[in-house]
Amino acid sequence: MIDFNIPPYVGTEIEYIKMAIKNKKLCGDGPFTGKCSNWIKKNFHVNQAFLTTSCTHALEMAAVLADVKEGDEVIMPSYTFVSTADAFVQRGAKIVFVDIRPDTLNIDETLIEDAITPKTKAIVPVHYAGVSCEMDTIMSIASRYKLIVIEDAAQGFGSTYKGVSLGTIGDFGCYSFHETKNLSMGEGGAIVFQDNSYQEKAEILREKGTNRSKFFRGQIDKYTWMDYGSSYLPSDMNAAYLWAQLEAVDIIQKDRMASFNFYHEGLRPLMQKGYIELPYIPENAEHNAHMYYIKLPDLDSRSQLISYLREKGILSVFHYVPLHSSPAGKRFGRFHGTDNYTTKESERLMRLPMYYGLTPDTIEYIVETILNYFR
Ligand SMILES: *Cc1c(COP(=O)(O)O)cnc(C)c1O
Repeated sequence: MIDFNIPPYVGTEIEYIKMAIKNKKLCGDGPFTGKCSNWIKKNFHVNQAFLTTSCTHALEMAAVLADVKEGDEVIMPSYTFVSTADAFVQRGAKIVFVDIRPDTLNIDETLIEDAITPKTKAIVPVHYAGVSCEMDTIMSIASRYKLIVIEDAAQGFGSTYKGVSLGTIGDFGCYSFHETKNLSMGEGGAIVFQDNSYQEKAEILREKGTNRSKFFRGQIDKYTWMDYGSSYLPSDMNAAYLWAQLEAVDIIQKDRMASFNFYHEGLRPLMQKGYIELPYIPENAEHNAHMYYIKLPDLDSRSQLISYLREKGILSVFHYVPLHSSPAGKRFGRFHGTDNYTTKESERLMRLPMYYGLTPDTIEYIVETILNYFR
């Protein structure tokens, strides 16, 4: 069976994990955590970066830092992972879902303004498949209405919009290093932001509500409970795994891009014949080959192809069931406007195997199998 995903592993992870153990600093904010957050700050040109235990937790931190409260409304696409909404539901906010664009499957930036009410607090663009949302439009709406923008860049690590790293454009950006993402630490994530005035609050929130970070830097001689907080620090062993991947980031991303392009070329004839649709990348977005998906005409044709591929030993999968149609989505949110594309596109999309180390031979077999199916 050809796996759909294999967690990325470059070979140096074991050595760095051993070092983390020898360092006798297994808890959070050890040397490897420092290396990773400094790497993000330097390479993505962002002032603050904190590793977290997941992207879900990075989003939770963003919701607290943005002071999202009971009664607030938060605008986001319905075609996303549950965590995008969970983080704000936890603060008592109401989720306002807006339709997606059929080309990128990202939130339709032209529909956001109409969904804004006096209760709106934040907009959460999700960069689906690591392909940027139309950030200029989103940022200008946010500045006109004084809204906070929290980028769910879980899939967008290393992607850019007009040359700027995804995650660093809005007020807050959240990455995931789950084993299904381009770079991994098993479970993990990061929150980044440019505004240094959030630094102290973020440190306190991440350290159980204490000012322990200041204490460790020697800025105060004892630490105490300052504010609401939780524990969002990953172990330095996990950070050691991520550090190995950050050192090899170019190799990992190039490898995925080669796979993406190989699929794209191989499947083009089927697109030209009108059998399937292929991913669309806007000119101002440089993506990270997080995903390779195709779109079939409808739900039935998609189910048929998924089972055909399974018979041939290939695991392909569909993606999100729109949140607004789920039990929790109905309870915690509402869909603003008409669902022209969210449900329709979600029913036709399927993802093909994509991971670091996927070989050209394997892709060729997958492409050939799909071509044969349509013959
Ligand atoms: C993976 C993902 C998340 C959650 O990431 P975790 O690190 O597993 O918490 C959130 N949003 C999107 C869009 C994702 O793809």
